[in-house]
Amino acid sequence: MKKIFDYIEAHHDAYLEELFTFLRCKSISTRDEGVEECAQMLSDIMEKSGISTTIYPTSRHPVVYGERIENEDLPTMLIYGHYDVQPPEPLEEWNSDPFEPVIRDGRIFCRGASDNKAQLYTHVKAAEAWLQVEGKLPVNVKYLFEGEEEIGSPDLLPFVEEHKDLLKCDVCFYSDSHYHENGRPQINLGVKGLCYVEITLREAETDLHSMMATCIQNPAWRMVQLLSTLKDPKGNITIDGFYDDVRPLNKLEIEAAGRIPSDEETLKSQYGVKRFLKGRRSDDFYYNLIFEPTCNIAGLYAGFTGDGSKTVLPKKASVKIDMRLVPDQKPEKILEALKDHLCRHGFSDAEIRHYGMVTPSRTPVDHPYVKVAEEALREGFLQEPIVFPGIGGVAPDYVFTGHLGVPTIVIPYAAADQKNHAPNESMVLDGFFHGIRTSAALVYHLAKEAGEYE
Ligand SMILES: [Zn+2]
Repeated sequence: MKKIFDYIEAHHDAYLEELFTFLRCKSISTRDEGVEECAQMLSDIMEKSGISTTIYPTSRHPVVYGERIENEDLPTMLIYGHYDVQPPEPLEEWNSDPFEPVIRDGRIFCRGASDNKAQLYTHVKAAEAWLQVEGKLPVNVKYLFEGEEEIGSPDLLPFVEEHKDLLKCDVCFYSDSHYHENGRPQINLGVKGLCYVEITLREAETDLHSMMATCIQNPAWRMVQLLSTLKDPKGNITIDGFYDDVRPLNKLEIEAAGRIPSDEETLKSQYGVKRFLKGRRSDDFYYNLIFEPTCNIAGLYAGFTGDGSKTVLPKKASVKIDMRLVPDQKPEKILEALKDHLCRHGFSDAEIRHYGMVTPSRTPVDHPYVKVAEEALREGFLQEPIVFPGIGGVAPDYVFTGHLGVPTIVIPYAAADQKNHAPNESMVLDGFFHGIRTSAALVYHLAKEAGEYE
């Protein structure tokens, strides 16, 4: 790896220059701004790096697919990433132009810097470094870069289903999200799923005078009663069948979660709270964050919420609930369980609208490719990585674990305070350069695992 690391070191300035051009190219998927141009630019960067690339149109924004196939007998890694970004607003809260990258305090500030352009770019430059130094790669590499991640990846699963042969691989790696708040690199082996619903109860055709509360049902009170059937006072979710499919944890997962460093006071100040739920301590923090499914009230609204008082009997009440799921809960089944539960509790008139549905995913802690990622991080970051059996967040990992049937390992290169989706998003330079080294070392260790260097 020494020659490759030297090559990377010698090209820091060139990487920044090219990355900055890529960052300047707006690709705001939610309002169709610049996404096609950015796909073309990414494809050009990949071609110039030695990767043959095809742009596939989808119903909205294209997939940039690339590959470097050296030999069918070698292991194949699939790199996933997304080149679309969140809108930059509110603009007045940025300290510099959101689409003009600048370096301050060892960080690149720009929309999309950490989420996800610089992170996916490391994997492209890793292949380029191998090709420049060795003339070939010791593994096959495929790249799937989508332009719709920030709008929920609506075309990702259809694309993968339609191109299963093209995407055939042994493992999926990607770099998104962030490493541990103490600065140590981390590996994420799973994500939670999601079932997001809005429940509405209606009564009168219009809001009424509140004196009518003697004879007409108040949907806000009914909503309070409805919600009280979803959880018991101890916080257990009481939707019948909710926990039925939760996969029992194995010893390795529990031990891995136990090894994640956590400092109670740091966590409390990070979230601006004085206590944790149910008096939990710091050693429960990651265990629950990773393994516990939730039924969270994300929004609750009815009646008069303006200044002053208004005596009114509201015509409707609504709640938005997000349920974060763990393997092997299925969002479709949870939605059915919720509907049945509401019918059984006298709320068959509740209107239920569902939004996001994501299946949870987890790659086994003892999968041999986890060691590959650990070795790569040790060499690339020069620090001991922390293995997270899962995270609290949601991502489309199940598309790869479930539909392609391959282990999926996330190796984040951004810092915990990257501010993705918020003003002043940044990518730490150290994470970026160490990321290129790690992505290059990943290639080496995957080949080594397959017996290439024996
Ligand atoms: Zn994002």
